Amino acid sequence: MHSMAIVEWGKALQPVDTPNPAPKGTEVLVRVTGCGVCHSDIHIQDGVIDMGGGRKVEYAKIGFPLPHTLGHEIVGEVVAAGPDAAGAKIGQRYVVFPWIGCGKCEFCQRGDELLCANGRALGVRAPGGYADHVLVPHPKYLVDFTGVPETLAATYACSGLTAFSALKKLAHLGPEETIVIIGAGGVGLSAVMIAPAAVKARVVVADISDRKRDAALKAGAGAVYDNSDKDALKALRAATPFGAGAGGAIDFVGAPGTAQFGVNALRRGGTLVEVGLAGGETPFGILTFMQRMLTITGSYVGSLEELKELMGLVKAGKVPAIPVATKPLAQVNDVLADMRAGKIDGRVVLTP
Ligand SMILES: [Zn+2]
Ligand SMILES: [Zn+2]
Repeated sequence: MHSMAIVEWGKALQPVDTPNPAPKGTEVLVRVTGCGVCHSDIHIQDGVIDMGGGRKVEYAKIGFPLPHTLGHEIVGEVVAAGPDAAGAKIGQRYVVFPWIGCGKCEFCQRGDELLCANGRALGVRAPGGYADHVLVPHPKYLVDFTGVPETLAATYACSGLTAFSALKKLAHLGPEETIVIIGAGGVGLSAVMIAPAAVKARVVVADISDRKRDAALKAGAGAVYDNSDKDALKALRAATPFGAGAGGAIDFVGAPGTAQFGVNALRRGGTLVEVGLAGGETPFGILTFMQRMLTITGSYVGSLEELKELMGLVKAGKVPAIPVATKPLAQVNDVLADMRAGKIDGRVVLTP
């Protein structure tokens, strides 16, 4: 098995070659045909997460073994299956659901694997798809994508799923309501495109970049605002019934300024969904939530059921495609550097 792996925290990925694992029990060996590059891969590569208030989590200090193979937007072909891997068809291609739990606890048993305290997500805790093969613990994590271009299909395992799951947390809002999407980068832009299939409310976008606001308008946003403009909130509120504000906001940036913009945009009883990874401290007072009866909720990727639901919408032609470029796995370090420099629009999928 050939992979491009983190061998030293914060350094370029390096080739690592090991024998192909033989699947045991319910395990399935998948030959990787594509793996999307996600912004979160950069944070893992760095080995440090900013938790806000000067607190940092270092992967090296939480028992995270190296070398580690990144990559959680995996598509590939089943090439071998363990004796108990019923339903895994050799030669069939699937998208792999990577957000896998221990499989034993009560959360995993009821399908809430994201709540598992001992998760083994592919590319995060377990070896991922920046490789020519990946071991999947059970065939239930293989999702059909018939009729969808393969490299595009891979991106739904994180980018698409993250957008979809965040939107679903605001599916209760009616057509008279407004949802503000803050940050129209890769995942935010996906959310704009998935929104008509996932929520009833009108969707508007806030971004500080002219280019990204233009892209959001083209993708179907009802209106766009520059959140660095001090009059943006006034204009946004004025476009909602009685000037009350938005019923929901999704912060795809996750920085103090964008979280504050989300809270300020909400009507009484509104919901802020935090998704982005930028990090920092929440800038608003506790009483804001009590007095205005606000809800703040975190959204992290999405569940297996949500991925299946999303892929159903994609297969039915209800979700427009995001732009996808392919690059050889050997060029992964250039791709990660481009991503750090903000040079990538849409998604890059690596092919071994
Ligand atoms: Zn991701
Ligand atoms: Zn579990």
